[in-house]
Amino acid sequence: MPSVYIKTYGCQMNERDSEQVARDLQSRGHQLVGSEREADVILLNTCSVREMAERKAIGKMGMLRKLRREKPKLVLGFMGCMAQRLGDSLKEKSPHIDLVVGTQKFHRVADYVEEALQKREQAFAREDIQELGEAVIPPIVPIVDTAPEIGSQNTIRDHLPQDGNRVKMEATSFISIMQGCNMHCTFCIVPSTRGEERGRPISEIVAEARTLVERGIREVTLLGQIVNLYGRHEFPTIGGKSPFVQLIEALHDIDGLNRIRFTSPHPMGFRKDLVNSFARLPKLMEHVHLPLQSGSDRILKAMHRPYTADSYRKLVADLRVSRPGIAITTDIIVGFPGESEEDYKASRDLAEEIGFDGAFIFRYSQRGDTPAAEMKNQLSEVVKEARNQDLLSVVNASASRHLDACVGTRQEILCEGPSRNDPSRLAGRTRTNKIVIFEGGSRFHGEIFDVAITSASASTLYGDPAIHNGDPAINEVSNES
Ligand code: SF4
Repeated sequence: MPSVYIKTYGCQMNERDSEQVARDLQSRGHQLVGSEREADVILLNTCSVREMAERKAIGKMGMLRKLRREKPKLVLGFMGCMAQRLGDSLKEKSPHIDLVVGTQKFHRVADYVEEALQKREQAFAREDIQELGEAVIPPIVPIVDTAPEIGSQNTIRDHLPQDGNRVKMEATSFISIMQGCNMHCTFCIVPSTRGEERGRPISEIVAEARTLVERGIREVTLLGQIVNLYGRHEFPTIGGKSPFVQLIEALHDIDGLNRIRFTSPHPMGFRKDLVNSFARLPKLMEHVHLPLQSGSDRILKAMHRPYTADSYRKLVADLRVSRPGIAITTDIIVGFPGESEEDYKASRDLAEEIGFDGAFIFRYSQRGDTPAAEMKNQLSEVVKEARNQDLLSVVNASASRHLDACVGTRQEILCEGPSRNDPSRLAGRTRTNKIVIFEGGSRFHGEIFDVAITSASASTLYGDPAIHNGDPAINEVSNES
């Protein structure tokens, strides 16, 4: 059977979508391979959040054209957000592509791949082509499908089977619980690439989580573009609890599931019921990624973000009361159109006051097809860069303070396997989502235990496994290390 290579750009939702496509292809007998050179089919799962991400994917597809010359039957395709946004026009930008599949059609990719393989085969079987020899690459009519589809949010639900040799290597998993966003922030392309908000039924998400737990998964991260507003259009609030809180409670009841996280929420979705959940549901990890975007009310309004610096400040305070020690990370945009020195200072001051555990700082970049791209008073790159560097120094300082404060403490971690940077050591995450590197054997994989934190770098903690709860497996390994 043909082999497939999938390259994923962008966010965790894209990673999850790619996993679903990989699973569909694998279940039909296709082999997944780790490099382009080995593949008969190459799919690029694309991102549209920044123009640069789109340019990268189109550039990559251009380079793959060379591979087609060596392997004339190679099938090449775009899927995901850029495929959705640009659709048919990608046929002009990348005239050699075979597939363009949008964000509501991931479940059709396997069919389309097989159709494209067949088309290529048939094109080569034509007598006129055979006479011309192998050097000729006959064009085929690309398959383009970016149409919306009701119920498509329910199709991202399967996971790749676990490799028998790597049992317990995978301890965490993403679960896609919804698609789309109705918020229409003026800088964001997502509403036009991912469509309207659509949530999956709670019962199906819980069934997926149970299957993952049976395979040894200990932690799930719920994914959605606006995850904490999950289900608000489809499912009722019951007993003052939003559908999202109802979902968390249902997952919390699953034996063997130890940790629940979610990303990315909107400050608007943190009502009392969700804030209180952090006080009463111990499996809900003490980390919230809470996009601020700006500390200036004037800029928040221009961004179409319906909260103020004060309401954000109060939300952080409430979360810290609900779960003392909770980690707060954020996204902040600098250099949004019309951002004055005073507006920027409001962001800087709020970041300093809150003392984030970490932050992604983005220099605003004009994104075609968004309202902010048309706004007057676009700022120069020099100003954006200066503000970016300045704000980075503020958030890096607070992130370091949080890491340093862990030194000398014991932290519960879930071991996720070998460290990416140094596979001879292991990596795990604290409940507050901080990475801990430590020495240890393979039996730590997928286990939850305490680590004594011995030192911290700018972004990482280092520790020693502590003897924990008399668990013989852990104690034994602990003695070995
Ligand atoms: S809430 Fe998030 S995904 Fe939705 S429009 Fe705003 S930034 Fe984009």
